[in-house]
Amino acid sequence: MNLIFFGPPGAGKGTQAKKLVAERGIPQISTGDILRSHTREGTALGKKAKEYMEQGLLVPDQLVIDMVDDRLGKPDAQNGYILDGFPRTVGQAVALDQLLGKRDAEIDKVLVLRVPDEKIVARVVGRRMCKACGSVFHLEFQPPAVQGVCDACGGELYQRTDDTAEKVRVRLNEYAHNTEPVAAYYKQRGIVAEIDGVGDIDAIYQRLTSALDE
Ligand code: ADP
Ligand code: ADP
Ligand code: ZN
Repeated sequence: MNLIFFGPPGAGKGTQAKKLVAERGIPQISTGDILRSHTREGTALGKKAKEYMEQGLLVPDQLVIDMVDDRLGKPDAQNGYILDGFPRTVGQAVALDQLLGKRDAEIDKVLVLRVPDEKIVARVVGRRMCKACGSVFHLEFQPPAVQGVCDACGGELYQRTDDTAEKVRVRLNEYAHNTEPVAAYYKQRGIVAEIDGVGDIDAIYQRLTSALDE
């Protein structure tokens, strides 16, 4: 199954995607995670993307599209995947259709996580990530057993430089202007399921899997 997890920054896409990966064995393809590994390693792509990411702005379409094209060609992506954080513009959605067309594949479902803006800020500002394995925590809503230490691997937790109240406002603005129209693009096809993304993480996961199995 080829899925898209859609929603504003901090909606819980990564958190929910990781649960589905564990249950269904299809990979999560997060363009944010791939871009962060490029900036960490200082690749040519990472150098180009960094200034946009630090400001909370979207990285130019073509950089992201080429990156996804490459990722969809990997062996583990041949039996389905979860696209997390892509496509984020209508231009990316059109390009994705072309990438899928040449592989004779299609998107089966788009799961939209709905979370109001006022909840988003608290989620993003309290988010902490593991330097080693990328696991996601929250200071208040999903705290690790030992402060600053990853439950999964013992790695050190850090706060992303773009996870500040100021940057989240820029990112929400990018989302409203450039990303939200992507939902309408897929709605025309009747493959969108809207999920209430507020509440207990396991309860949201239940809603999400029942929408998938419908
Ligand atoms: P996204 O991938 O959509 O940006 P994340 O999955 O990283 O979002 O979640 C953002 C932050 O909110 C994380 O710190 C996570 O621990 C927390 N979070 C995720 N789901 C919930 C929820 N249902 N209630 C409260 N906090 C949540
Ligand atoms: P979040 O889910 O919290 O918004 P991500 O990790 O998905 O965070 O993205 C972090 C940053 O990486 C974005 O603010 C943007 O600069 C860049 N980025 C990630 N995915 C895309 C994309 N599909 N198109 C353009 N920029 C992207
Ligand atoms: Zn870890």
